[in-house]
Amino acid sequence: MNAPSRVLIVDDVSVNLALMCALVEGNGLDPVGFTDPFEALAWCQRERPDLVLLDYAMPGMDGETFVQRLRAFDQGAMIPVIIVTGSAGPEMMVRMLEAGANDFLRKPVDPIELSARARSMAQLGRASHAWFELATRDELTAVDTRRHFLSRLNTEIARSHRYGTPLSLALFDVDHFKRINDQWGHPVGDAVLRALGARVKETIRETDFAGRLGGEEFGWTMPATCGDAAHMAAERLRAAVAGTPIAERPVTISIGVATLRPAEDSSDFLVRTDRLLYHAKDSGRNRVSTDGAADHAERRPVA
Ligand code: GH3
Ligand code: MG
Ligand code: MG
Repeated sequence: MNAPSRVLIVDDVSVNLALMCALVEGNGLDPVGFTDPFEALAWCQRERPDLVLLDYAMPGMDGETFVQRLRAFDQGAMIPVIIVTGSAGPEMMVRMLEAGANDFLRKPVDPIELSARARSMAQLGRASHAWFELATRDELTAVDTRRHFLSRLNTEIARSHRYGTPLSLALFDVDHFKRINDQWGHPVGDAVLRALGARVKETIRETDFAGRLGGEEFGWTMPATCGDAAHMAAERLRAAVAGTPIAERPVTISIGVATLRPAEDSSDFLVRTDRLLYHAKDSGRNRVSTDGAADHAERRPVA
């Protein structure tokens, strides 16, 4: 059976909150209640519930502001929100819908209607999460999909140009991966890629992100990191892969690393980093190539 859908309930009056939680509990729904909207928002950002049931009138932050802030954060756009209000005139409803709410319930709430609407909306929230996971997380390696990685990279490039913070990019590729498949079979190749994804995720910083760009080639974005620091980080990953077998096989990777130049766009940045990766391959594999080596790099013909 599926785990129950998690429903965040926010109401500044604790008696109301307890009542709402009791009405929602069961039937595949698991309520978590908060009286403080600020705490609720922070929890929401961390835990990504399947549905939010929100009291409109709250001290400190009203329902409208809550929804606007929720919609602004990553993945907050797809969590359904039902506003619970005692005074829902048409004008207010329009305002709330424009702020991003999905539905309303009038106080005093009818228990049957509350439970039915909450179940239906939570199902929608769950489906959105599932689709988001499919679109953004590579099934085999659990790093970002190509599309999601490139979209996040573009965001980081724009941020770096706007605020002048450094940004580094690494591209890496498994050395002689074809041999792994040929020698041990495709399922072992898959197991190696899966374990490599895990090794990468445990080695890179939490503020970094990695994605699978294709076959056995990956990207790794390092925000707020430049030159030497990026080189050291790449060297650490290279050593972490080469130093301990991956899925019980010896595996090495070659890495190209570059730091974003002023006014450089994402395609130039990717091409430049790719040239460094091929330079690392041409120089013997199991090594890191950084900026400066680019001038000597020849684009390796695609096999
Ligand atoms: P190099 O050191 O130059 O990178 O050599 P290589 O053998 O790694 O490079 P090449 O690009 O010739 O081969 C990559 C191989 O990766 C070929 C392809 O069959 C395999 N491959 C691509 N995607 C997958 C996958 O999802 N699973 C498995 N098992 N193999 C894959
Ligand atoms: Mg390879
Ligand atoms: Mg390759």
